[in-house]
Amino acid sequence: MKIFCVGLNYKEHIAEMKHAAFPESPVIFMKPPTALLKNGQSFFYPDFSSDVHYEGEIVLRVCKNGKKIDKKFAHKYYDAFTLGFDFTARDLQAEQKSKGWPWEIAKGFDGSAFIGDFIPLVSNKIISFSILKNKEIVQQGDTSMLLFSFDEIVSYISKFFTLQQGDLIYTGTPKGVGAVKIGDVLEGFVEDKLLVSCTIK
Ligand code: MG
Repeated sequence: MKIFCVGLNYKEHIAEMKHAAFPESPVIFMKPPTALLKNGQSFFYPDFSSDVHYEGEIVLRVCKNGKKIDKKFAHKYYDAFTLGFDFTARDLQAEQKSKGWPWEIAKGFDGSAFIGDFIPLVSNKIISFSILKNKEIVQQGDTSMLLFSFDEIVSYISKFFTLQQGDLIYTGTPKGVGAVKIGDVLEGFVEDKLLVSCTIK
């Protein structure tokens, strides 16, 4: 199982990260399977960072194997989604970026890929979601705000990597990312349905 992530896929998040330009193609990075945590598990604050951020995102689940998938067929390759958190050690990421080095240690560490419960995906229906920290809304997004659509992302990833059933794709975060501290509770809703809940320990 592979975990793909898209960076910089919502315009207002690109602005808050102080990037001058929008990417011309999806920005892809990966997390290892050991990064995965699910509803019912807790995220333990790592000792190598003092600035861990949540990034609430829609996560797609790949339902069949494929490579070099044409955009017009891409919708056949995912059939379910949930909300998840792309936990990021922002201090390590800034340090790695400043040196021009890969940022895996900031993005792929143990527990950095939290996911909720999957629900079937109804194609062409706009998905609206909210992320709450300690019961206050901190992020809101919907799929009309995506710079690259699900189909564009799937097609692009499959140029380079064979997609396999069960692979996960984090599709990017809207604006409102922020730090977490021990004791915080993060929740993600699609409309009024709670899909993901994570306590920071
Ligand atoms: Mg992210």
